[in-house]
Order: sequence, then C-alpha cells, then structure tokens
Amino acid sequence: MARFTTLYSGSSGNCAVFEEDGRALLVDMGRSARCTKTSLAELGIAPEDLGGILVTHEHSDHVAGLKVFLKHHHVPVYASQLTLDELARQQLVPPTAELIPVDGETIDIAGFGVSAFPTSHDAADCHGYRIASPKGKTLAIATDLGFVSDEVMANLYLADIVALESNYDVHMLMTGRYPYYLKRRIASKNGHLCNEESAAAVTKLVQTGCKNIHLCHLSSENNLPELAMQSVREAFLQAGIVPQQDCVVRAASRYEISPVCAV
Ligand SMILES: [Zn+2]
Ligand SMILES: [Zn+2]
Repeated sequence: MARFTTLYSGSSGNCAVFEEDGRALLVDMGRSARCTKTSLAELGIAPEDLGGILVTHEHSDHVAGLKVFLKHHHVPVYASQLTLDELARQQLVPPTAELIPVDGETIDIAGFGVSAFPTSHDAADCHGYRIASPKGKTLAIATDLGFVSDEVMANLYLADIVALESNYDVHMLMTGRYPYYLKRRIASKNGHLCNEESAAAVTKLVQTGCKNIHLCHLSSENNLPELAMQSVREAFLQAGIVPQQDCVVRAASRYEISPVCAV
C-alpha cells in the first residue's frame, strides 16, 4: 500500500511525502530540517528511508530546511537542471550535496518512477511531479502555478492521488492588505491558482476517475480551508459529483501532518 500526505503545506512552508514498503520520496522541504524530521518520525519514516528529495523550485517556502538537512543526511536532491543551478548559486544546498537533474525522461529513484512537468510560476524553472510507486500507484503533485496548462492537466489525469494547489480566495486577495503589485503577481499567469481555478481542474479530474484530491499550498493571508473546500463543493454540485462517494477531497493542514491517504 502506498501512502501520501503533506507534513506541512502553505505559504509558510511545503513538504509532501510518498511512501511504499518503507521507502519514501519527499517533495520539497520548506520548513526547518528539525521540524521536518519530527513530522517524518511521527509517520514512522527515518531520514535513511528517503530515496530522494524532489524540489519543485527554489522559493524559500520549498527549500528552507534543505541545507541543514543535507549536512546531516546524505539524500540525493532531484530537480530540473535550472533549479539545481539556482539552488547551488544561492547556496541553498551544501557544496557536497548530490544534485541530479530530472529533465525529460522518467527516471528511477529508489524504485519509484519519477517524471517532472513544467508549471507556470515566477521561479527559475518550476516543475510539478508525477510519481509511480514500485507497485504502480501514482501521485501527481503541482503546487505553484499561475494556471493549469494542458501539459499540467495531462500529467494530473488518471493519478491515484492528486495534490494540487488552491492558493487564494479572489475576494480575500483583492480586499486584503497586500500591496497592489503583489496582488497582481499572485493572480498572474506566473503566480498561483485561486480556489475556483483549482476546483475546476479538480472537477475534471474526478470526472475522469480520480478518487483522492489533496488541496495544497493555501495562503495564510488570502485563503481559508473552508473557502477552498466550498469552491470544490460548488463545482461538484454543478457537475453532479457526490463528494465522499465519488472521491475524497481534503484541504492540507498548514503546520501539521494532514490525514494520510493510502491507496
Ligand atoms: Zn513559489
Ligand atoms: Zn510556494
């Protein structure tokens, strides 16, 4: 059985784990190494069980814990070549870190089949990941994207578990205290997904058979879990989808481990 959850998720830090039979991959590490290790231990996962850390992009909410963690544990880091270059240039990883590019083909990481796909975001070269477990269960994760491109959608389809960002509520963002330029940046094609955009993508995925949806990377300033879930409920209602029966949708917790999804 494969297990997926987020250790923490949101603008204050992101980390997800996909595990099967004692081997695990992490996606990002945006809070401290200590906090990440404590959460992993709660799930019964030791640093030695990690086959790799996949990095989506170099923003601090995705890599803040990486440098300290890698000083104490030898775990290879996977990302696009441009992202790896950026991690090295900004000294976000120690010089001794093992950095392996994942551009192009599906590669084998500790028995997991991993492929990266580009997402539209204001980073050097942001990517999401589609991961097949050794026993063939699939996770697709896309957490920082200004819009859902056809390529992103193609990578999310028919995954057993989809983790998709639902970053902001349009009304909260527009009436909130962020300066205008930042509001524009977040809402742009290189920013983040709003709840309605995420709900529309989720609806299509559930209509094609996805049973497990994890709404991720909710903004602390511009969103609430209830609003993200409400957008999905409204989209499902219009499409005639029955939540809990046709699929399980959860909003990820900001600081805690979210309920584990096992497939
Ligand atoms: Zn980002
Ligand atoms: Zn982010």
